[in-house]
Amino acid sequence: LAKKKIAFVGSGNWGSAIACHIGDKVRQLNGQYHEQILMWCKEEILDDGRKLTEVINQQHENIKYLPDRKIPENIIAIPDLDIAVKDADIIIFVVPHQYVKNICEQLKNNIKKDAFALTLIKGFYVDEQTKELTLVSQIIKNTLNIPCASMMGANIANEVAKKIFCEATVGCRDDKHSEIIRQLIDTPVFRLRFFPDVEIIEMLGGLKNIVSMLAGFAEGLDAGFNTRAAVILRLGFVEMINFCRLYKKESTSEIYLQSCGIADLIASSLGGRNYRGAKTMVQTKDSLAYIEKKDFNGQSLQGPSTAKEVYRYLHARNLLDRFPLFRDTHLICESIIKPHVFLDNLGNHPEFH
Ligand code: NAD
Ligand code: 13P
Ligand code: CA
Repeated sequence: LAKKKIAFVGSGNWGSAIACHIGDKVRQLNGQYHEQILMWCKEEILDDGRKLTEVINQQHENIKYLPDRKIPENIIAIPDLDIAVKDADIIIFVVPHQYVKNICEQLKNNIKKDAFALTLIKGFYVDEQTKELTLVSQIIKNTLNIPCASMMGANIANEVAKKIFCEATVGCRDDKHSEIIRQLIDTPVFRLRFFPDVEIIEMLGGLKNIVSMLAGFAEGLDAGFNTRAAVILRLGFVEMINFCRLYKKESTSEIYLQSCGIADLIASSLGGRNYRGAKTMVQTKDSLAYIEKKDFNGQSLQGPSTAKEVYRYLHARNLLDRFPLFRDTHLICESIIKPHVFLDNLGNHPEFH
């Protein structure tokens, strides 16, 4: 039986961390999978003039996006997207969501017929014309004509890279694919649970980026702990669940209490990049775009663009009043309202009507 090949599309902060995890795991599996794993890395020239792919392959470290963590030597950074993916049986997508469409267009007709995909990407699209919502898994599935599973959870990349315990939720409707994902990822320090809700899991991953920004705004504004709990775990979480339900019915409401739901919301609201960027915005009054440039060294804040997509979706359906926190996040990001306004609006939340 031919050994299955794995490829990564993306090599940022999370991409590099999960590549380390899977690279180590595959080496322990004794030959069921090709040990060498190709990782597409968008080439860039670092400040010292070296190419990022060359640094990763020679120094075995992604010094830009995941410094101080050795990348296993069986992970090979490849600057050419088509070469990285064309022989792969399992393709793991892990880039900021705004790049997925172009990447899939480029990969079209150039992947193995019986490959399958796993998306780790938190974010989705709402079309400017039709106002229809499209998930990353659907873009992958429809453009590449392969099945796509999703994996989301409380997985702050720098912690995963240090092998600090976490869990994640996998959305998959094919038992054979679930088994492969379990083999590649599940370990005593990275536990997986499986549900058929590919779309809801993915949607929660995107939506928590909005609420974790609110956690940052609230902290930056010195809101009380009671208020912050209400914003994150009550009203914010309720809006996440209600938004998912607008879109699709979950197989079990337990899904919201899994790592992809409440746990990721908490982890991200305590220490995620969107939370930190939002807090800095309130404290310094700098723009998010400037903060992203200055503080995040090329890493991407996905919350502002997701808030914009959600606003577009709700606006088109006349539903903004039912999601005031999502609405206000977008308006704050665009500097249309001042941050404190979302706190003033809490008492009027539809949850109390
Ligand atoms: P990142 O935030 O580190 O973003 C940087 C990456 O984007 C680099 O690899 C860069 O090459 C790439 N990039 C820049 N311009 C590009 C372009 N034009 N086309 C394609 N790629 C381009 O990335 P990340 O942290 O790996 O995040 C990827 C996804 O994983 C996101 O959806 C994020 O929400 C999710 N996620 C992140 C974490 C985390 O802790 N970092 C944890 C879980 C999930
Ligand atoms: P940030 O992108 O806000 O850092 O969120 C990280 C994350 O998704 C952890 O699970
Ligand atoms: Ca769009």
